[in-house]
Amino acid sequence: MITTNDASAVTLENKKILVVEDEQEIGNLLSLHLGDMGAEIHHASDGFTGLELATQQPWDLIILDIQLPGPSGLDICRRVRKTNRQVPIILLTSRTTELDRVVGLDVGADDYISKPFGMMELIARIKALLRRSGTQPAPELPQSNPDLPVRINNLEVKETSRQVHLSGKEIELTAREFDLLMHFVRHPGRVFSRTELLDQVWGYNHEGYEHTVNSHINRLRAKLESDPRNPEYIVTCWGVGYKLQDHRV
Ligand code: CA
Repeated sequence: MITTNDASAVTLENKKILVVEDEQEIGNLLSLHLGDMGAEIHHASDGFTGLELATQQPWDLIILDIQLPGPSGLDICRRVRKTNRQVPIILLTSRTTELDRVVGLDVGADDYISKPFGMMELIARIKALLRRSGTQPAPELPQSNPDLPVRINNLEVKETSRQVHLSGKEIELTAREFDLLMHFVRHPGRVFSRTELLDQVWGYNHEGYEHTVNSHINRLRAKLESDPRNPEYIVTCWGVGYKLQDHRV
């Protein structure tokens, strides 16, 4: 039972983690280190096996290499997200191009880490994601659960059931997108810098990862805004950050 928000208190004990990685050495290294921490690691070394395992079994977390024989990590991520918005997904990128990162986050990954990476950094990322998913209610929460929605213009957000409706139509958000939106909803009108959002929503702050925030903001806008280039909900405050336009004022 997790009773603290401190990511360092999260343990990998008995966590079921899928690693899809064709480079044997990295796969072995991950299995060894994460296994040592008590996690139950399943390692697939090609995209076909990875896709099958990722979509047919429940996981606490999935780590996907992008370049794989068979379906790529991006393909697998996209397929998983069609039916499962909650499972945390980390992408391993071999190239450090912005494009990889943007595409990776656009297909619904929660985080990415560039190779070569340090094991401690990866473990910190895993813990931060597990901490978040561990504090979320189970997705199959009974519908009768009292959950007063927050309404902002045509947007309706229910925190307990993690549902978002726009003009009455349900919008599907990944776990991280919801967390980000909820953070804005809890602080309407307040401006957050990308660094603050990384720290407060992602639970860590590594220099150079501010781009993660941009990608998630863009995805949220694509889902919530009728004109994402001219947003009415999450607006950019140039040179400072982002804020939720408070339509209730
Ligand atoms: Ca690879």
